[in-house]
Amino acid sequence: MENKFKAKIIKGRFKTIRLKITNNGEITVSAPNSLNDEKIKEFILSKQRWLDKQMLKINEMNKIKEQYKFDNCVYLFGKPYLCKEDKSKVYSDYFLKIIKPLVNELSIKYNLKYKSVDIANSKRIWGSLDSNKKMRLNWKIVILPKDLVIYIITHELCHSKEFNHSKKFWQLVEKYLPNYKDLRNHLKMYSFLLSSKVL
Ligand SMILES: [Zn+2]
Repeated sequence: MENKFKAKIIKGRFKTIRLKITNNGEITVSAPNSLNDEKIKEFILSKQRWLDKQMLKINEMNKIKEQYKFDNCVYLFGKPYLCKEDKSKVYSDYFLKIIKPLVNELSIKYNLKYKSVDIANSKRIWGSLDSNKKMRLNWKIVILPKDLVIYIITHELCHSKEFNHSKKFWQLVEKYLPNYKDLRNHLKMYSFLLSSKVL
């Protein structure tokens, strides 16, 4: 079997052999000095299935990335609209007129209570719900496809009953969104948006 992956190999005073793949598909193997090339090759081969899976994910993410053109567009639920106005104003309007009512609607539908919902600016997370049931949602949430927005809001509403990501928490999410695992994985493909320049 041929090794189809190009990997950068770094030898050093490492205790174990490790493999890393970046978001642009670069593979790095860090190996202890004592390990010979044959063993390193074997190791990479043994990880081929995992690498295939990661490559598929990276390709999917890149396809999504290419779809988004922020130059003169705003996005509402994954669809672009030409925008000549102040984009940050449009997004805060979307938040007030679309996201807030959606949170309210889902809260009533599930009978899960929250105290308030505020717009947040984070490069790391889409949303949160604190112990006072105050929800904060990233203003970029509206850019995502609607099923993912519903997933994020449902996730946060479920924290009103289960504070941690326990088994009970995920069972609650599943009750409202039986396909939550797919949604959760799909959302990961959009994580690049958190740090993207959108305005
Ligand atoms: Zn959570």
